[in-house]
Amino acid sequence: MIAPCGPPKKEAGKRKGEAQREACHKYNSAAGCNREKCKFDHRCTKCGEKGHGASSCSN
Ligand SMILES: [Zn+2]
Ligand SMILES: [Zn+2]
Repeated sequence: MIAPCGPPKKEAGKRKGEAQREACHKYNSAAGCNREKCKFDHRCTKCGEKGHGASSCSN
């Protein structure tokens, strides 16, 4: 088993009535997403963190 760096977080949102959006595949690609209002979630598909994509994930 791989030891995670922090506490395990599967679901970050606690808002009611809002389903978790799908991660933006463009954002996770090397090209990145340039949509101003993207309907997809800009989070890493590898570690699930926001702020970077899977292409720049260091985990
Ligand atoms: Zn996007
Ligand atoms: Zn990541």
